[in-house]
Amino acid sequence: MAARLDLSDPVTALPGVGERLAELLAEHLGVRTIGDLLAHYPAQEAGKYREPAAVKPLGEARIGETLTVVGQIASWEAFTPRRRRGGKGPKHIARATVRDERDGQAIAAPFFNQPWLPGRHPQGSRVAVTGRLERYRGALQLRSARLVAAERAVGVDGAGDADPDRPDRAGDADPDGAPDPQAQGLLPTYPATAALPSERIARLVRSALERLGPLPDPLPAELVARHDLVSRDTALRHIHQPPDREAVRAARDRLVYDELLALQLAIQQRRQEREEAAAGLVQPPAARGWAATLLEELPFPPTRAQRRALDELGGDLAASGPMHRLLQGDVGSGKTLVAAWAMLAAVDHGRQAALMAPTEVLAEQHHRTLQSLLAPLGVGAPGGPRVELVTGSLPTRQLRGLLAEVAAGEVDLLVGTHALLEDRVAPPDPGLVVVDEQHRFGVEHRIRLRDKRADGHHPDVLVMTATPIPRSLALTLYGDLDVTTLDELPPGRQPVTTTVLHSDSDRRANLERFVRERVAAGERAFWVCPAVDASEVATVPGPEGERSIASAEEVAEHLATGPFAELDVGLVHGRLSASEREAVMEDFRRGAVQVLVATTVVEVGVDVPEATIMVIEDADRFGISQLHQLRGRIGRGSARSHCVLFSTAAHDNRRLEALAQTRDGFALAETDLELRGEGSLFDTRQSGLADLRLARLVRDAAWVARAREDARRLLEADPDLADHPELRAVVRGLVDPHRLAALDSG
Ligand code: ADP
Ligand code: MG
Repeated sequence: MAARLDLSDPVTALPGVGERLAELLAEHLGVRTIGDLLAHYPAQEAGKYREPAAVKPLGEARIGETLTVVGQIASWEAFTPRRRRGGKGPKHIARATVRDERDGQAIAAPFFNQPWLPGRHPQGSRVAVTGRLERYRGALQLRSARLVAAERAVGVDGAGDADPDRPDRAGDADPDGAPDPQAQGLLPTYPATAALPSERIARLVRSALERLGPLPDPLPAELVARHDLVSRDTALRHIHQPPDREAVRAARDRLVYDELLALQLAIQQRRQEREEAAAGLVQPPAARGWAATLLEELPFPPTRAQRRALDELGGDLAASGPMHRLLQGDVGSGKTLVAAWAMLAAVDHGRQAALMAPTEVLAEQHHRTLQSLLAPLGVGAPGGPRVELVTGSLPTRQLRGLLAEVAAGEVDLLVGTHALLEDRVAPPDPGLVVVDEQHRFGVEHRIRLRDKRADGHHPDVLVMTATPIPRSLALTLYGDLDVTTLDELPPGRQPVTTTVLHSDSDRRANLERFVRERVAAGERAFWVCPAVDASEVATVPGPEGERSIASAEEVAEHLATGPFAELDVGLVHGRLSASEREAVMEDFRRGAVQVLVATTVVEVGVDVPEATIMVIEDADRFGISQLHQLRGRIGRGSARSHCVLFSTAAHDNRRLEALAQTRDGFALAETDLELRGEGSLFDTRQSGLADLRLARLVRDAAWVARAREDARRLLEADPDLADHPELRAVVRGLVDPHRLAALDSG
């Protein structure tokens, strides 16, 4: 056996791997070391590990069966066939006759366009040929055959058919590749490229595994035992060369757990460091005060989910460390009440609270909502809490006056955009910052928040998002945030019916009539398009050939001059200035505009209770989460609501059908994940998720929970992992610190 290899050795330490192949591996697969190579795992989808072709004597094989014959090459016959018309067919055929070494039977195997084969495997050499057994002109032959040298099954030594320095071979081989006659158990399928087909990777991996000494196990034996895991050595060998399917499962479980544990350790260590560095505020909710009064005066009882959220937030406020919590809940789940309560809890301690929204429109809306929610507390009246909207669009003198009052501590609740972070906005004792719609805070923002306080203590931070994601995902994606989920809608919500129609459906006229009726009854409609104007290049099939995707400008023009000529049609999109947009939105809210044609600018947060109809053109252009958000704009009032999704792909669109079937944002997020993978909900490259090679957060939710809990216990006992040096090394090796930084928030 060749010299022992280490995971950190370069791939060139493998026999037969020269500069050229090393370059290919690095370029195509990002593989540089033996460790990288072994972390290039086989595809895990169902059916990707294949049963090897049977090695059996020819006499026992049936026509049509795929089999491998091992034996000597008795002869080669090479010729250039007459080309068929149109130049079809092979340019060169090399036909081998192989004598089966067990029963001496001979069989032919033709190889197309591989003129070098006879030179590489001359008469007398021992080979393994795999192909489908068929009868051709009265004789047996192996069709679509693949041939490898049998002496050197590993075949990376420059012999075999894996000569790295023969460029004419690159890209030639079938990605399924020739089987390895020495392979036992199941055959892996690797993510491959034309120049590096799966079978070639398999041979490199086999070569590496043969030369690798037994791997140490970095995991404490206690954890291995608790979760009934196989050793790391076994896992790494079996994921590549499993004896059977059960071995694949066990190997995958172990490697998935390792990935998740490393990620959780890294996340929690960062969090620990930060918490050590940061002093928070102790501001437990008072038994008497505005926060308590708010709950007493509510016209409705909080939902169970809201109560749980209030408990969790109350615990954070009371604790000495700063709060970093994510509040996630579907549109309409009542996040604002929870946030308002927490803000008042800070105000009850004589501090100020701020609510930051992503846009001015939403900041204004929050301002309005807070004012009506706090009306029973005498908001704005002497002795009541004072809520102010801080925006850049205030006249300078007025803004200056307001900022002076903020600095004097006269404003209890500030609402605004990112501008709230500017230095000139200087409340004397900020206690809580609520950030709406996942503004992800960077380090820089965090420092600015802390600088808001003269004493260097961190204000508490609550992040709100209406894009629900499964908990296992949230726990990892927002690794350093605690997560509270409002998984329940207040009772008495109006149903929203969702209908998927073909864009050319003749029910359009009915819909237009229906909109006119509802508007006459005082209701309003959104009409959403994927594009702003017709200049956008994308096209979809239309009744007379291709047409452009629906654009807001054209649709508004058509509706205003055609079906809705009697109504007031408004138009809002991202190319308008903020003040133009707000003017139109305000008209819509008042009812001066009854049909609002829009792009996705209306996606988040806009709240118009009279809006009961949401029409979305070319809906297949949007993601599930986006459509769900859009639909969340209706069904907010007391009237029954309707959503219509137009699409040219109407009859073959599982995403649209999923939307028609449920309003549960969590269920839809799961569907999205299933259909489009985890990259669909967020940019995975931006987060530690990119370090997960095998783990899938939804599918492996149970392992996420175990890893999180194990990481917590390990770090509690051993914060620096000083007693677990191997584990510490794994954390460093598995998790890229730069990407991890992107996970930071709050
Ligand atoms: P979100 O911000 O989560 O989308 P909101 O906070 O805007 O939801 O709440 C949506 C509507 O539901 C608001 O009109 C709010 O007053 C109302 N609401 C909130 N909590 C309850 C509850 N427990 N019972 C009844 N209505 C509620
Ligand atoms: Mg606290």
